[in-house]
Amino acid sequence: MLFKDLKNLVKETHLPLHEVILSYEMLESAEDPETLKNSLSSLLRAILEISERVYGKTFKTLTGLTGNNASKLSKNDHGLLSEFMRCAVITALSMSENNASMGKIVACPTAGACGIVPGVFYALKKIKGFDFDTLLKGFIVSGGIGEIIASKATISGAVGGCQAEIGTAAAMASAGLTYCLGGNIEAVEAAASISLKSLMGLVCDPVGGFVEVPCVKRNGTAVTVAITSSEIALSGIKSVIPFDEVVDAMKKVGKSLPETLKETALGGVAVTPTAKKILKRILGKLT
Ligand code: SF4
Repeated sequence: MLFKDLKNLVKETHLPLHEVILSYEMLESAEDPETLKNSLSSLLRAILEISERVYGKTFKTLTGLTGNNASKLSKNDHGLLSEFMRCAVITALSMSENNASMGKIVACPTAGACGIVPGVFYALKKIKGFDFDTLLKGFIVSGGIGEIIASKATISGAVGGCQAEIGTAAAMASAGLTYCLGGNIEAVEAAASISLKSLMGLVCDPVGGFVEVPCVKRNGTAVTVAITSSEIALSGIKSVIPFDEVVDAMKKVGKSLPETLKETALGGVAVTPTAKKILKRILGKLT
């Protein structure tokens, strides 16, 4: 699936974008419409329920390197973020720390990047009071963006670096948010493109191979990229480069990244002196 195909179909059929994506998915998966909609509904319901349950909590993670970021942020407010942004960041950190503590999450698109999409959808519900049906339409659009990236490029950090995980999640979140807020297909494309371009080149460098550092905080900061990109797109600002070409570029960047920067924990912050010291301590405790 290409974004330009979606654009053409919306133009030809006059159907809303989320319905075009659903029809596309039905053809691809051979699922009947009811089953497909039900499975997407249950995923979104799970995202909203888990977000509510873990919001701002403290977690006991495998390494102890993370686990209190969401709770610290929820107790401290320096007025730098809007209420919406703050809720999204706390949700993203909470979900990501929940993942690091082996809690239940919905991979969207992956476990490492599981906080960003929930960040925007939970904030839409909690702060803006959006109803489930509207959120579901946006969630379908988020899924469509993820599907395009997965089929054209990759959503795996081991294959394309963190841009493929966190970058994809930000593009999905931004597209869904823009759609929920009434953005047309051009705005959705701009939001997804700006998010992915903003995170292009991001390397995968988890300390010790544990999905905690820098992953948890990246979820928290990347959700702000998604929201900012949405605000930019909703203002009528276009992406100069079309989404399909941005995805192609991300794929090429991923291919040109060395293996040390693709989930091997052999590069980036994973090999800093502090990371090495911490790892020695953790491994000593685990053995
Ligand atoms: S750094 Fe690697 S493991 Fe961590 S979120 Fe990014 S892609 Fe996933």
